[in-house]
Amino acid sequence: MTTAIELVLREARPAGSEEHIVDIGIGDGCILAIEAGLACDAPEHHLGGRLVVPGFVETHIHLDKSCISDRANIRQGTLAEALAETTAAKRGFTEEDIYARASRTLRKAVPQGTTRLRTHVEIDPRISFKGFDAIRKLKQDYAWALDLEICVFPQEGLLNDPGTEDLLIAACRDGADLIGGCPYVDSDPHGHIAHIFALAEQFDLDIDFHLDFDLDPSWMHLDEVLRQTERLGWGGRVAVGHATKLSAIDAQALAAVGRRLADAGVAVTVLPATDLFLMGRDHDHNVPRGVTPAHRLVAHGVTCSLATNNVLNPFTPFGDCSLIRMANLYANAVQVGRTSEIASLLDLITTAPAKLMNLADYGIAVGNPADIVVLDCASAAAAVAELASPLMGFKRGRVTFERPAAVINQPADPR
Ligand SMILES: [Zn+2]
Repeated sequence: MTTAIELVLREARPAGSEEHIVDIGIGDGCILAIEAGLACDAPEHHLGGRLVVPGFVETHIHLDKSCISDRANIRQGTLAEALAETTAAKRGFTEEDIYARASRTLRKAVPQGTTRLRTHVEIDPRISFKGFDAIRKLKQDYAWALDLEICVFPQEGLLNDPGTEDLLIAACRDGADLIGGCPYVDSDPHGHIAHIFALAEQFDLDIDFHLDFDLDPSWMHLDEVLRQTERLGWGGRVAVGHATKLSAIDAQALAAVGRRLADAGVAVTVLPATDLFLMGRDHDHNVPRGVTPAHRLVAHGVTCSLATNNVLNPFTPFGDCSLIRMANLYANAVQVGRTSEIASLLDLITTAPAKLMNLADYGIAVGNPADIVVLDCASAAAAVAELASPLMGFKRGRVTFERPAAVINQPADPR
């Protein structure tokens, strides 16, 4: 008998090895055993062969500007309008307000099965550290449910916005986990990229850019990011979000970019909800989708994730923080239909984003933290195709949420 095991999940079906039904022994917050018919008399949950994942990994979300739809006026649905409306709303933000809205958003993410999360936090002389301080508090207050990583970035530009770089440096010294950039809003995009790489080198941080957020493929800031990544030897430590320009090039050109991304070690996060909402607004019919085909980049060796980005704000006036829904939305938008391809999309909200975030202890494996989410399905393809409900989640072995499966009350005589 294994005495250290405090809890057993019986008849679990780990994603990635769906043909094997196993018992998972948990103790001291970690996975201690994975085997069929585990001999142990600890308390147990019977999962009935349901799929389990190590929790979903959200690589790109903006907690600080979430839940402000009621403060904005969306008339055109363009990126420029979203930036202007959010900048205006930001003037009224306080630390308490940001904490309350971000908390509301996190409380959506937890029961959707998210256990790891990277949030982008805006830093500039107007908002100063209000968002940073609020999110740092949330990081501690929600550590029972998820690991939160803070990416500080200058949403309103760097070289065009005096005082911003000093604040970013202070944040890097004071608890930021990584640094981001947003060159498309800067008066000097290449200078912006160079400064972000310099700060990353100075503080030994990973980088996550907002990049190439339009449908004109005639030029790309990605070229400069690839060049700087290789110059600094930062491969495996750089991600870019959006890259919607890559939805506007043909398969041959996409393959060439994919090989360059893979060789340089630059990862791509696709944000289907925002990109579908904001892109192609200059069309009044036959609107392009503007969603970069991440699964095709994966085929060229690129690390890719699908993520939420914005929740209930002018960039995306929707949101339930469900990454399964995001994978399903993506599959619809980019016309993924083969069962094996649909199944592989589960990787883009689990293992692939874990790799993007360089998470060394992620996965259902002995010795890892017992981060486990039970889905109401028996295969990865069903999880994405049928939007399987997360029924129960564990963070370091403790239950963080439960959602009973629906009960159908069919009458004895249904006619
Ligand atoms: Zn973003």
